[in-house]
Amino acid sequence: MKKPAKPARENISPSDLTFGLSTCKRCLWVKYWYKVSAPMVMPLVGTLSSLQEEFFQRADMPTIDPSLRPGTVTKWSEFVKSKPLQINGQDTRWRILGKYDLLSTNDDGTTGLIDCKVSDSQRDSGAFYSPQLEAYAYALENPAAGKAVTVASMGLLVWKPTHTVGEGSANSGFGVAQKYVAVERDHDNFMRVITDFIDVLEGELPDAGSDCETCRFLSARNALDNL
Ligand code: SF4
Repeated sequence: MKKPAKPARENISPSDLTFGLSTCKRCLWVKYWYKVSAPMVMPLVGTLSSLQEEFFQRADMPTIDPSLRPGTVTKWSEFVKSKPLQINGQDTRWRILGKYDLLSTNDDGTTGLIDCKVSDSQRDSGAFYSPQLEAYAYALENPAAGKAVTVASMGLLVWKPTHTVGEGSANSGFGVAQKYVAVERDHDNFMRVITDFIDVLEGELPDAGSDCETCRFLSARNALDNL
């Protein structure tokens, strides 16, 4: 596969810092140079996230978690785009572009960033999602346009379905256990991750991984065409 003169997209999605680098990097490279991605089948994810975000619009931050600075959720589901990312003091062609879930305006003028999840995964840890949230923070603190803000706190707001509630077909639902997982600011780690990420993108097409179900399926499927 030849590398085009220019990438098909130069905006890095924050979620690719969580999931893209942890597996094979070949599909990541193809996504940015050719804008071709494997289709994702995630029924209900969008609906559940919207319901959860809606629930916290205009929420008082300390009611979400007592550790949070006094403030109110004032923005939600907005795109943020950064200035060009700098590596070793030099502008690259790459920027961060993503849509955050919740943003607070704190009484002291700072901002709190919250990423909502409906999940029962063991990996909902601050360390796992740190580069993704730092990417949003980078875009908010270094915006392509508009006023920069200071992100004083970042965290995951996790809803884990645990039981059923209500009675009858019109009034039943899932009950959840809610937890707020604070994510420590770690700009140095973000810079390490984003530097690796850009190195992968600027390099040649990486080899395919050895244990990817999708790649195994594609190889088996393509072999059938040659029978
Ligand atoms: S192993 Fe194949 S399908 Fe899986 S991520 Fe890599 S290139 Fe993509």
